[in-house]
Amino acid sequence: MGSKNKPKQPPVPSDRPETLRREIIFVLEGRTLSAKDISANVGIREKDVYEHLGHIRKSLGRKGPSLLVTPAECKKCGFVFRKRERLRKPSKCPICRGQSITEPLFSIR
Ligand SMILES: [Zn+2]
Repeated sequence: MGSKNKPKQPPVPSDRPETLRREIIFVLEGRTLSAKDISANVGIREKDVYEHLGHIRKSLGRKGPSLLVTPAECKKCGFVFRKRERLRKPSKCPICRGQSITEPLFSIR
């Protein structure tokens, strides 16, 4: 019984991504925040912030404001993670293997 009932929707997080992305854009406009700050402002988990930022970076930038990223930096040797395509904070420095790394910062201007 009920085997023909296809679930129409995959398990979706309760918050709609579009609304959340608009909120993230709103909190980032004219401000510079870390993913932790954004997660506190918008009320989502930090790891979800990075995912939304990835989408936001793609959707912005053709015209008008774009997502600016201040790259993470090693506190020990000063190595800057400039080429990093992923937005997430790196866990280890490739030069000195230090694990004390500043958080990347985000802004929309
Ligand atoms: Zn280092």
